[in-house]
Amino acid sequence: MKLSQRITHLTGGGGDGWDVFYRARRMVSEGHAVTELTIGEHDIRTDPSILGAMETSARDGHTGYAMVPGTDMLRDTVAARVQMRSGIPTTRKNVLITPGGQAGLFAAHMAVCDPGDVGLYLDPYYATYPGTIRGAGAIARAVATTAEDAFQPRAESIEAAADGAVSLLINTPNNPTGVVYSRQTLENIADLCKRRDLWLISDEVYDTQVWQGAHLSPRALPGMADQTLVVGSMSKSHAMTGSRCGWIVGPEEVIDHFINLATHTTYGVPGFIQDAASFALNAGTVLEEDIAAPFRRRRALAMDLLAAQNTVGLVPAQGAMYVMLDVRATGLSGEGFANALLDTHSIAVMPGESFGKAAAGHVRVAMTIDDERFASALKTLCEFAATLADCQAAE
Ligand code: PMP
Repeated sequence: MKLSQRITHLTGGGGDGWDVFYRARRMVSEGHAVTELTIGEHDIRTDPSILGAMETSARDGHTGYAMVPGTDMLRDTVAARVQMRSGIPTTRKNVLITPGGQAGLFAAHMAVCDPGDVGLYLDPYYATYPGTIRGAGAIARAVATTAEDAFQPRAESIEAAADGAVSLLINTPNNPTGVVYSRQTLENIADLCKRRDLWLISDEVYDTQVWQGAHLSPRALPGMADQTLVVGSMSKSHAMTGSRCGWIVGPEEVIDHFINLATHTTYGVPGFIQDAASFALNAGTVLEEDIAAPFRRRRALAMDLLAAQNTVGLVPAQGAMYVMLDVRATGLSGEGFANALLDTHSIAVMPGESFGKAAAGHVRVAMTIDDERFASALKTLCEFAATLADCQAAE
C-alpha cells in the first residue's frame, strides 16, 4: 500500500553521523564500558518536589482530559514568566501548552507553512528541524552559519536564501553549537523578518542555560511580537524531558488556530503534568539554577582544559548543555574523529556532520556525566587529537 510522501520523506536522507551514536549504544548493550557524551539528557532526574506535586495532582483526580489549550494555571504561569523575562505584555491568550517543545515546533510550522512554501533553518541545526518543516508539508531550506563567524548567523546569508520562504527557525542558546546569539545578530534577523514578512520561530528551550551574555528573546525586539512564535519547554530547564510539557507563545489569533490544531492532534497535555509544571515554574529560580549548575561547572572545566592545549578549538561555549569542538587540526572529519575516539578510548561524542554540513570537522560533546569523568574524558579526547595531529604533521 502506498504511504504519503509526507511521512516517507520526513527524514530526507543524510544523518549518517548518527552511526556513532548507535554504535556506542550497541557497545553498551554488549557490556562494554562506554563514556557517552552524546545526547542532551541531564544526569539528574526530575526533582522529588516536582514529583510530589505531580502525585498530589494525580491523586486529587487530575487524571482525566485536561483543557486542550492548557490549564488556566499553567497558561497564566507561563505568560507571567515570559512577560517578566521579555518585558512584552503576555496573557494566557498568548499561550498554548504543548506536549514538549518538539510538538510546539511542529505546530508552529503547521500554522505558518503551506505545502510548497519554504521554511528556513540554520545549519548546524538540532536534528529534528528539517523533518519538522517537511512534516508540515513545506520545503526545508538550510542556511549555513560558519565556524569563522563563531556560528552567529548572518542576515545577508539568510536573505540570499529567502525567496519563497515564509518562516525562519532559530535556536538560541543553540544546540548543537552552544552559542548564544548576540543582540546584534537578533536585531539583524528581526529587521530581515520584518522586511521579508517572515514568521520567526524562536526555539528557546535552553533559555535558563546561559553561561556568558544574556538570553534575549527576539519576540521582545520592536515590532516582533506580531510575527514571532516562541517555543519553550520544561525539558531542559527543569529536567523534565520525559514529562513532555512545553509551550508556544504568540499572537492571540494564532493561538486560537493552535488550539484547533491541538484538538485534532494531541488533545492537550495531562493535567497532573501541567500541575507539576506550574509548581516547578513557581518554585523560583533557585531550583532552575540548581538544575543548570552542573553544566555551568563542566563548561568551566572544559574551558580550562581546552585552554591548556592547542590542537582542539573550542567554539564559544556560551549556553546550553553542550560544547562544540573544532577537531580539523587532526586531519579527520568530525565523523572520522568520533569513530576513532570510540574505537580507541570508548568515548562517544556526536560528529558535527550529524547536525549539518556547516559543523563538519567538529564534534559535539554533551556535558551530561559527572564532573570527574567529564574532565577525564575531555582530557583524553584532547590528548588523542594531539597524537593524531602530530602523526599528520609527520606525514
Ligand atoms: N529544541 C532543541 C534545540 C532541543 O535540543 C530539543 C531537545 N533536545 C527540543 C527542541 C525538544 O525538546 P522537548 O520536546 O523535550 O521540549
